[in-house]
Amino acid sequence: MPRFCLDDTIAALSTPPGVGGIGIVRLSGPDALPVARRLFVPANRQVALTPHTLTYGHIVDPSSGERIDEVLLVWMAAPRTYTRQDVVEIDAHGGPTATRAILALCLAAGARPALPGEFTLRAFLNGRLDLAQAEAVLDVVGARTEGALRVAVQQIDGRLSQRVRTVRQTLLEALAYLEASIDFEDDVEPRDIAPALADASETLRELLRQADQGMVYREGVRTAIVGRPNVGKSSLLNALLRADRAIVTSIPGTTRDTLEETCNVQGIPLLLVDTAGIVATDDQIERLGIERSLRAVAQADLVLLVFDGSAPATAADQQVAAKCAGKRCIVVVNKGDLPIVDEMASLLPMSPHITVSALTGEGLPELEALLVDVILGGEVADQTPLASNPRHREAFRRALESVYEVQRALYDGLSADLQSIDLTEAVQALGEVTGETASDVLLETIFGQFCIGK
Ligand code: GDP
Repeated sequence: MPRFCLDDTIAALSTPPGVGGIGIVRLSGPDALPVARRLFVPANRQVALTPHTLTYGHIVDPSSGERIDEVLLVWMAAPRTYTRQDVVEIDAHGGPTATRAILALCLAAGARPALPGEFTLRAFLNGRLDLAQAEAVLDVVGARTEGALRVAVQQIDGRLSQRVRTVRQTLLEALAYLEASIDFEDDVEPRDIAPALADASETLRELLRQADQGMVYREGVRTAIVGRPNVGKSSLLNALLRADRAIVTSIPGTTRDTLEETCNVQGIPLLLVDTAGIVATDDQIERLGIERSLRAVAQADLVLLVFDGSAPATAADQQVAAKCAGKRCIVVVNKGDLPIVDEMASLLPMSPHITVSALTGEGLPELEALLVDVILGGEVADQTPLASNPRHREAFRRALESVYEVQRALYDGLSADLQSIDLTEAVQALGEVTGETASDVLLETIFGQFCIGK
């Protein structure tokens, strides 16, 4: 499989295609420097290329002698590079024609087009990054808020990997003991592995808790804004977005379709869905809108149920509230700038209520604080969560389940054989996080999600 081959030299455009300030063509592999030398002519021909130093010059087509672009070139000598191989970056003027031509010359000079994520895969295969760190690179690129970025950058630093390795090592030692006691029953000093298992399960529970919090930052929270027409749903969406995205009019029912926007609430991406009012109606378009609203409520992680506090609750308000029963909900009593005649206390009394004015912005900081509180389950994220990737979370869950099985087997006095099967599974699951036990198929799947040039 070419993907797992490290002997050839790969090349790709590492900046987004299109027009930009600069465009970077990147090479990695044993021939990165010879390939670059075939195309690059330094402005001062006496100057030899020095590693990790920018050199000014031109890319020249070796077959025609034609100048393609004026560039800065840097050769980074292995192993102090992203991939731990020789890397060359050519900073060209950012235009699709020049960068495409430079890339074509690199390929003609002996490089091969890089597959998606292949630079980062090489970094992983050469031990520069482990798998969790490599995946965090993808999360840094895709981070939607500064909160998501903080989680991802911390993961690149390797703090999660360190924690996972420590638990895995604890379990590996227990496994080694179990296997030795199976093979050499009489020669092995008896050891109590229960404390090690208790330690590991506590760490895994903590990692799971942190992964739940981290995933909120990474994936965002689907939040449906619902309520009967004219209570101020679109106005609230706009206020949260601080931009005029939804059309606001005073004619009831103008938001017939659903609108989706992402807003940033203290670092948490909130995927807001503004829905048409949920009330029974004969009008067909309106009914379609209502069906969509109900679907949005069903799919939402959280519902902002909006009422107009300046008017008494109507039958329609009660109908909408009934549809939201059982969902994680915040009751937003809107139009707080007007005299409040109904605090809607009887509607969804188990959910938190808050009075705001989408018009004046009054109460919105408190609503944001309440959102964070509800989303993080009342726990303040006092530190940046270590984990945020659903794949890692699933691995922690599998590992914890297996450790519980071992603890149960130990308690029930079952054989060391049975204990070691579950312990092996836990060790395997944790190794998939950092990559020690990741299969080629898993690596293909993970690195296939990267863009070309990363
Ligand atoms: P939707 O149908 O629920 O999306 O409601 P809109 O956002 O379109 O608002 C309906 C009407 O209520 C518009 O005339 C808004 O200007 C008005 N409105 C929305 N929020 C407030 C508020 O907080 N205070 C006041 N006084 N009017 C509001």
